[in-house]
Parts: sequence; structure tokens; C-alpha cells
Amino acid sequence: MESNIMKSIMYHYVRPDDQSLPYFRHLHIDDFIKQLEYLGNEYGFISKDDFLNCMESKEPVDGVVLTFDDGFKDHFHYVLPELKKLGLWGIFYIPTSPFTTRKLIDVHRIHMLIGKFSGQTIANALKNIIKEGMLSHNHVEEFQSETYSRQNNDNSTNYVKRCLNYFIDYKYRESVIDHLMSRFFPDESCMIDDFYMTKSEIREMNDQGMMIGSHTVNHPVMSKISLKYQESEIKKSRGFNSLVQRMG
Ligand SMILES: [Zn+2]
Repeated sequence: MESNIMKSIMYHYVRPDDQSLPYFRHLHIDDFIKQLEYLGNEYGFISKDDFLNCMESKEPVDGVVLTFDDGFKDHFHYVLPELKKLGLWGIFYIPTSPFTTRKLIDVHRIHMLIGKFSGQTIANALKNIIKEGMLSHNHVEEFQSETYSRQNNDNSTNYVKRCLNYFIDYKYRESVIDHLMSRFFPDESCMIDDFYMTKSEIREMNDQGMMIGSHTVNHPVMSKISLKYQESEIKKSRGFNSLVQRMG
């Protein structure tokens, strides 16, 4: 292994299995604990002080930094206690739109739809909603060939993701996902506080020595949007994060 290299690892969902979400893909909390042990033994962790010094001095420092994306409740419930037990810290990147729109971020809505109802069920529902005019031109043929090639749940899951992330013209994407949500999760606004950390939990993470980072407002694919939109996504989410940290 090369020495003096900062390595960072990114986690998303970390939780125990949940029978109410039989198809949900996540890292099991027990495997997370094993990974921490492995990373600690193999590379060692960079302390928060060393990390901050390194950012300032640009002097290289060796070891692993743990990062956690998307502000999930998992991070408060399951990750924080494990990190505290081991005296570790992490950086938590929070997208901010769920706090104002009371909707899940679109990519998370897709995870929940498939996670609860299976790729096959959602693929079938999608087939009835999507009209050919909603597809972006260069994907029409791909869409048609994929529609008939699905055989198992994994293929259906891939189909739903490709459909909603690539085939569909972006201007129809949100309303198609809205449509699916109103049918499968009619009480979406009540899901927010179970799915994401609340503002007071984010503050508590910060008070417990965790670092809170900016992860845009709406979690768009940055390479697909204009420079101006990128700038506003970053500025607005940073404003929100410092606001949350000031409210003591
Ligand atoms: Zn993310």
C-alpha cells in the first residue's frame, strides 16, 4: 500500500434488514462494523484534527476518512453510535430540499418504490404511465427493446432505474415519479422525518464531533446541469447548513 495517502470511503444506506422493505438494497450494519475493523487494522483512521490540519497545510497525511452521503436517518440511528464507540468521526453530506419540499429526493423515491414493492411491480406500473412522447429521442429504440427483455426482478430493477434516469426526458421525470409515489406511497410527507435526519439530529451530530458537509439542494447530477444552476445548488445548500449549525 502506498504511504501518506488520504483515502476516503463513501457510505449511503447502513442499517439492519427491514421486513417492511424486502427488496431494499443497503449495507447491513453488522457488515459496516466489520468494515470499520478492517479499515482500522489495514490503514488506520485520520483524526479530525489531522484532517483539518492537512486541509490547511496541504501536508499529506496517511489513513482513511469516513464519509456518509444523503442525510439518511441510518446515519443518526446506526452509524453515530458505532463511530462513538470507537472514538471515530465522519463527514455527513446533506441535501437540503426535503426540509422545504417535504418530498424525498427523486433517486431515493426510486429506491423506496423498488425496495418495498419490487422492481417487477414498479416496472409494470411504469409501463402504463410512460408515453412514447416522454422519451428522449436517442433512447426510444433502447426503451422498446428493453421493454420486452425483462425476465427477473433484477432486470426489472435495472429497467426502472434506466427508464427514470436515462430514457425519460428530464422535463417529465419528476411528474412520472410523483405519479408512482401518489399511488404507492400516498403519505410521502409523513415519511420525511423517518427517512432523513431532522434538523435537530443534524445539530446533534455536529455537537458530537461529526462534520456536516454540503451536498447540494436537490441532488442533481451535476454534470447534466448548467454552471449557473450548479452554483446556486451549492450556495443554497451551504447557506442551509450553516443556518442549521447556528440554531443551537
Ligand atoms: Zn448523494
